[in-house]
Amino acid sequence: MRALNGGAAALGKAARRARRLDADDPLAPFLDRFAPVPEGQVFLNGGSLGRLPAATPALLERVVRGDWGDRLAQARTQWLDLPQRIGDRMAETVLGARPGEVVVSDCTSVNLYKLTAAALDARPGRHTVVVDDDNFPTDRYVVAGVAAEHGRALRTVHTHPEDGLDLATLRAAVDEDVAVVVLSLVSHRSGALLDMAQVHEIAHAQGALVLWDLSHAVGAVELQLAATGADMAVGATYKHLMAGPGCPALLYVRRDLQSCTVQPVHGWYGHREQLAMRPEYDPDPTIRRFLTGTPPALSLVAAEPALDLLAEAGMAAVRAKSRALTGFLAELAEAMLVPCGLRPAGPADPERRGGHLTYWHPQAGKLVPALAEAELFVDYTHPGRVRLSPAPLSTRFADVVEAVRRFREVLTAFDPAAGVAADPYGRAL
Ligand SMILES: *Cc1c(COP(=O)(O)O)cnc(C)c1O
Repeated sequence: MRALNGGAAALGKAARRARRLDADDPLAPFLDRFAPVPEGQVFLNGGSLGRLPAATPALLERVVRGDWGDRLAQARTQWLDLPQRIGDRMAETVLGARPGEVVVSDCTSVNLYKLTAAALDARPGRHTVVVDDDNFPTDRYVVAGVAAEHGRALRTVHTHPEDGLDLATLRAAVDEDVAVVVLSLVSHRSGALLDMAQVHEIAHAQGALVLWDLSHAVGAVELQLAATGADMAVGATYKHLMAGPGCPALLYVRRDLQSCTVQPVHGWYGHREQLAMRPEYDPDPTIRRFLTGTPPALSLVAAEPALDLLAEAGMAAVRAKSRALTGFLAELAEAMLVPCGLRPAGPADPERRGGHLTYWHPQAGKLVPALAEAELFVDYTHPGRVRLSPAPLSTRFADVVEAVRRFREVLTAFDPAAGVAADPYGRAL
């Protein structure tokens, strides 16, 4: 009882702090630029599906009724270069890349397939592909598949599932036989953030390329692909980029690498003369060669409203708010949730993590649906982890306090002694 009362007092104090933080928040006005949250619900799952911008439904209505319904074939031609137009917008707003270096097409898995194969093509004579064991399953499956298909060896480095990849481990694994290193910049599980420039230095010193998966980084942390000399990247757009379910994924290739790398899916959208219907494939010299077929226009146009919001706010401010929100949440969790059985399962240093926090709990698999019952929406990640991603443009500090209040209530109803599962990652790891 005393612990609970103590919690109530601490929550009251946190609520007062949150009111001040919200009042001083320069990004607070962006909350009204999103579709309203249904009454009583709290979302801390921006890392799996970003919130709906208020402008998106009307834009889609206009495109469906006006362009598709009324203008038909005239509209069709305006959609031909949509993957490049939206790509240029992403390049400028969230990637720190140059025009002509990004397209938005296919899903992350397919783009990863295309670029892993293209990287092998660009580094003939090298026989090894480096991946890590913490990457998202699709990344490991796709890269292993491409390596097998091309008769290359897969070298898997161990990433600490909570602290992230140790760069000394990476350095030891990259030699002159490595064609490409495939890594996630922000771990989908722990939130650990790698230093992009340092990874480039390690790989480039051996002549290897780096292919980044930016799925949990783009829209969450500031990226400077051009300034850090990034080779290639892919990433999901429906998470922190809030482009909507089913929006295709981004694909980046540095300008000078484009003409010397060929991707393996030779479709008409990548042809030098797409509409000439030539009998042979001849890849376009530009980023277009990484396209394959007809873009899903409705899903692609839905990416723009959130890019408008991110451009208006600026990624520096978005990252600053994200750090403030996760810092506040980590502090409240330490005081109020850790004593109830939660254990931090990601880097403690804010410099070394992306836009989400991860905690381990012996009954996380039951906890996440119980939190949803309490109308607090978070993500489960395997094994036994709860992932909390407060979206900077649509989350108030007051929402963080409310989330912690509900989380604590749900946690205290769990019997910590019942059904305790051991963490397969343990403490020592
Ligand atoms: C979300 C995510 C994906 C998604 O892949 P799709 O093919 O777009 O479904 C891929 N990789 C990582 C690291 C992700 O977080």
